[in-house]
Amino acid sequence: MDDQPPIRPSLLPYGRQSIDAADVEAVVAALQSAWLTTGPAVERFEAALCRHTGAAHAVAVSNGTAALHTAMAALGVGPGDEVIVPAMTFAATANAVVYCGGTPVFADVEPDSLLLDPIDAARRITPRTRGIIAVDYAGQPADYAALRAVADRHGLFLAADACHALGGSLDGRPVGSLADVSTFSFHPVKPIATGEGGAVTTADEQLARRARIFRNHGITSDHRSRETAGAHRYEMVSLGFNYRLSDIQCALGCSQLEKLPRWVERRQAIAAAYDEALSTDPVYRPLAVRAGCRHAYHLYVVRCLAHATGPERDRVFASLRRQGIGTNVHYPPVHLHPYYRATFGTAPGLCPHAERAYEEILSLPIFPGMADGDIRDVLRGLARVAGREAGDSAAVPAAA
Ligand SMILES: *Cc1c(COP(=O)(O)O)cnc(C)c1O
Repeated sequence: MDDQPPIRPSLLPYGRQSIDAADVEAVVAALQSAWLTTGPAVERFEAALCRHTGAAHAVAVSNGTAALHTAMAALGVGPGDEVIVPAMTFAATANAVVYCGGTPVFADVEPDSLLLDPIDAARRITPRTRGIIAVDYAGQPADYAALRAVADRHGLFLAADACHALGGSLDGRPVGSLADVSTFSFHPVKPIATGEGGAVTTADEQLARRARIFRNHGITSDHRSRETAGAHRYEMVSLGFNYRLSDIQCALGCSQLEKLPRWVERRQAIAAAYDEALSTDPVYRPLAVRAGCRHAYHLYVVRCLAHATGPERDRVFASLRRQGIGTNVHYPPVHLHPYYRATFGTAPGLCPHAERAYEEILSLPIFPGMADGDIRDVLRGLARVAGREAGDSAAVPAAA
């Protein structure tokens, strides 16, 4: 099957940003304004994020990793503290704990959804545990009701790494107000793009205040607030970083956010087309979606079942690439990275569900600008790799 001609002449990416004329205009207007950073576009973007997440406070920062670092610092994570993180996530989730001198403790994920397993998380609690970071893997909100019960029982904070899930919700409550603190990324493949960018949201006014100070060197006022007050004195009260997001990027973020609900709908339509084609497939199994959640579908992940007849995931990845279809693998379990093994003594066997999943998962192309014909190409490519030439047969549904 691998010597068949490519389905597409150039590579279909697994994810990409959508930029329209309104976005370009918004950026140009910011460039022509008096403020390139610490200006009014930052507040506008933060207010818009509050509207989309239902959070009382949003703090824009320079990227999603900075958002996680800022959240951990504002929660007071420090040396000796343990924070539970799922093994199936991007390394930055755990790295943020390490930046603060804490120890990430890896918990396993549920095998069908790859979301943090609340029972396994509870099992990893020790007297040093300070909190839990749940990850809304692929865009599906984690099980916050169960995690909240675990956190409350042990007096822990509950944080959400919601970098995949802006625009999602759980039982009618938007992502961004499901945990004590939530973090977002606006990297180009994420739900909205500002080039690089991120944010922290919370209902806790004091936590938001600490986050604002942390993103500005640990200084309690910024350039604009001093200019407005006609003052020059400032104080650095703690050690912070320069994690600010510029007005240029915040202007783009405001323009992007207007399209978010529409984009989530398009992502859901693409996912529904994949679901319909693959839900009974013997080789490719989509992940489970829990009732009551609005899935933001940053990723559409299938497991390539490595049993007798199924092609291996790496063969599917390579063959699709030759056919002009880009896919990706999210993620190698964090505890298996050489850094974590060397620094924290983690090893295979620690989180078996995540480790097993890693051998099988593949993220198929999904992004708002994807055409219905692109979806058909992906399904046709998958059928070819599995040794079925589905062609344009009735087995491949038209997208919504
Ligand atoms: C993208 C991502 C991050 C990091 O965001 P950046 O903006 O790239 O720094 C953190 N956690 C998860 C789960 C992510 O997907």
